[in-house]
Amino acid sequence: MPYDIEKIRSYFPILNQQVYSKPFVYLDSAASTQKPIQVLDAEKRLHNEYYGNIHRAAHYMADKATADFEGVRDQIKEFINANSREEIIFTKGTTESVNLVAFSFGEKFINEGDEIIVSEMEHHSNIVPWQLLAERKKAVIKVLPFNDNGDLQIEKLDELITPNTKLLAVAHISNVLGTVNPITEIISKAHQKNVAVFIDGAQGFQHTAVDVQKLDADFYAFSAHKAYGPNGVGILYGKKNWLNQMPPYQGGGEMISEVSFSGTSFNDLPYKFEAGTPNITSVIAFGAALSLLKETGIRNIASWENNILQIATSLLREIKGIKIYGEAVQKSGVISFNYKQIHPYDLGTLLDKMGIAVRTGHHCADPVMQHYNIQGTVRISFSMYTSEMDITRFINSLERTIRMF
Ligand code: PMP
Repeated sequence: MPYDIEKIRSYFPILNQQVYSKPFVYLDSAASTQKPIQVLDAEKRLHNEYYGNIHRAAHYMADKATADFEGVRDQIKEFINANSREEIIFTKGTTESVNLVAFSFGEKFINEGDEIIVSEMEHHSNIVPWQLLAERKKAVIKVLPFNDNGDLQIEKLDELITPNTKLLAVAHISNVLGTVNPITEIISKAHQKNVAVFIDGAQGFQHTAVDVQKLDADFYAFSAHKAYGPNGVGILYGKKNWLNQMPPYQGGGEMISEVSFSGTSFNDLPYKFEAGTPNITSVIAFGAALSLLKETGIRNIASWENNILQIATSLLREIKGIKIYGEAVQKSGVISFNYKQIHPYDLGTLLDKMGIAVRTGHHCADPVMQHYNIQGTVRISFSMYTSEMDITRFINSLERTIRMF
């Protein structure tokens, strides 16, 4: 069946608007995707029909909310093919998922002199928590570099991994370069030397099929708000064997089994890592986003986004003076670029006045900027609802902007 872009766009009312009297073109989905009516309706339905605090429910509403909340856990388990629902932990976002593992895995398994490998293309969220851990435990951070094309130099892993290496943290897909990292190969190389692997899937989950068992990932994290769901919800997948050995990350309600002043015992997975009332509304509404992803088919979405990526890349390459950062062969729907010496913020501001929403700056990936010795880039990013017309309007507006300089 052909990809019905008009039908998909009809699910996202926000796209059908004018800003500054111009058609709205949203090219910032890597920062956060827009939300479809299915998600908005699910939130409304919950609050109109069956809201209650979940778990330990003694009444109808809470029972029903609990069933739906736990149903989303099952949806995610199925989506990423986890071995069990206990391996799916709800957090606030990818950032919290990284912090959870950095704290909790770190507490148990990282000691003085141990090494943690982080790639050079990571988002700050997948760097700073490991730095904090390294400081706390007197461990060492090592960097897996990328080449100017935007490909990780994974052959360097052979020398980087030593008997002291305990964990490797790497993005599935770079939020700046768009590189789809060869995580199967990376995980296999790391496992040969007994190194656990944390995959930052913030840009991965919604763009490519993820099978955590096939990947053999130890941890895989992502955010609902980048996958058509509400903000305030993240997912941490972790292998049960690790999660069972890791101490709780936060204390509070739900994560306990029994509390007394002589000692407290902890709940089973996944609740051991879910202290306090979770974001019930957003988790349940995320279920509707997952249904849409499933119905549309992640492979159909990936192939549509790739088509948009190819069109946008070749049109950008035709504009003299444009430099694209990140030209890996395996690339997802993100293009970072600059035009001559023009500050990206100036380009972004002018584009905005023409109705085009792009992102400018360091994209929370300072080491990538340092690699190319630049202050920042303009970034456009695509999702299931990005149309060829969006790209035409963007390119026309960019050319107009360039003529102004
Ligand atoms: N990692 C990557 C690769 C990202 O793109 C982002 C968000 N820009 C994050 C981590 C952090 O995600 P969140 O802000 O949802 O926690």
